[in-house]
Amino acid sequence: MANYYSSDFQLGVLGGGQLGKMLLTETRRYDIYTAILDPSDEAPCKVGSNRFEQGSLMDFDTVYNFGKTVDLLTIEIEHVNIVALEKLEQEGLEIHPSPKVLKTIQNKGRQKLFYKEKNIPTAPFELFSGIAELKEAVNQNRIQYPFVWKSTQFGYDGKGVSVIKNEEDLAKLSDGECIAEQFVDFEKELAVIVARNKSGEVTTYPVVEMEFHPTANLVEYVLCPSSVDSAIEDKARKLAINVAEAYGSTGLLAVELFLTKSGDILVNEVAPRVHNSGHYSIEGSYTSQFEQHLRAILNLPLGSTKNKVAAVMVNLVGDENHSGPVKYEGMEDLMKMEGVNAHLYGKKETRPFRKMGHVTIIDESITEAREKAEKAKNSIKVISTN
Ligand code: ADP
Repeated sequence: MANYYSSDFQLGVLGGGQLGKMLLTETRRYDIYTAILDPSDEAPCKVGSNRFEQGSLMDFDTVYNFGKTVDLLTIEIEHVNIVALEKLEQEGLEIHPSPKVLKTIQNKGRQKLFYKEKNIPTAPFELFSGIAELKEAVNQNRIQYPFVWKSTQFGYDGKGVSVIKNEEDLAKLSDGECIAEQFVDFEKELAVIVARNKSGEVTTYPVVEMEFHPTANLVEYVLCPSSVDSAIEDKARKLAINVAEAYGSTGLLAVELFLTKSGDILVNEVAPRVHNSGHYSIEGSYTSQFEQHLRAILNLPLGSTKNKVAAVMVNLVGDENHSGPVKYEGMEDLMKMEGVNAHLYGKKETRPFRKMGHVTIIDESITEAREKAEKAKNSIKVISTN
């Protein structure tokens, strides 16, 4: 086994946002030298990394040359140049998740086809090369309202996803390859994070339950433990392991799920990396998702995924009426509350609904934690100094 700690080993990370920043807390704890590539000169990872390189994640030469300087490569964002990763892999570089997995998940159409091929339960869908084809399918009554339109590429945080209820909604869509997915009238949205290392060790985190912001289409609260019964908990964790095994992925895989009103579980989509739904684990779990990702990609023993306490995570997003240099109002009120842990990502500029940080509330009781989370959310505002 390689010597990673206080050594010449260099871990490379594509992307230098908040996920990378929280990963760096763990690489620093273990003293693992970490290099970051990110397009922004003000990336959250700039301060915590051993080496920071500014450059495009989509440019072949930039990604390839960066890859040549490190011993193992991982990502914190999936929109990266795959051709460069394929060449690096051919030349012997270890990359987790593999370029093959990234290629499948980068395109929502390809990802859905993968589930179909592997018999993984997912909402029925049809793939279209452009909007004209989709309109024709609607006219022929092959697709019925309401359905969910998803652009196959570059969707993020609900952008590029719309519920289409009528002709008027359909007319507003932009052209491009897309899928039309059956609208799932779900009971709950759940997620399970799976970790796999190269030796074949697999662990799952407990099921988390997500509550969405009614208008921003962003996760507002993540609760762990969730309120589902143990049969659903087991079924969701088993399904998530099947998904990870179907991909053959190494590292973390966050599996987003729908629990239907009849108790079925459908896979919505996955992210082969640390994920917003696992932030609670920093304070809530024996092993945080960030440490677990490191352990998994470095083929180290995986840690316990048990909860120490109940936890609720609240995303701190920019106020919808503010854009400009950021100011956090009410931080002191948060600090007065027991078990409330704020994380600020270090982004200089706020924009409506931009993810600026998160707060994790821990308590012996999930009910208490959820109540406190609402108070915490209402006591802090992300505004601009303008
Ligand atoms: P993104 O990649 O932008 O996060 P998702 O595919 O996860 O996009 O969709 C964002 C949200 O839209 C989901 O979390 C869910 O609330 C809703 N959604 C997605 N697909 C469906 C569906 N088939 N039926 C109902 N709601 C859906």
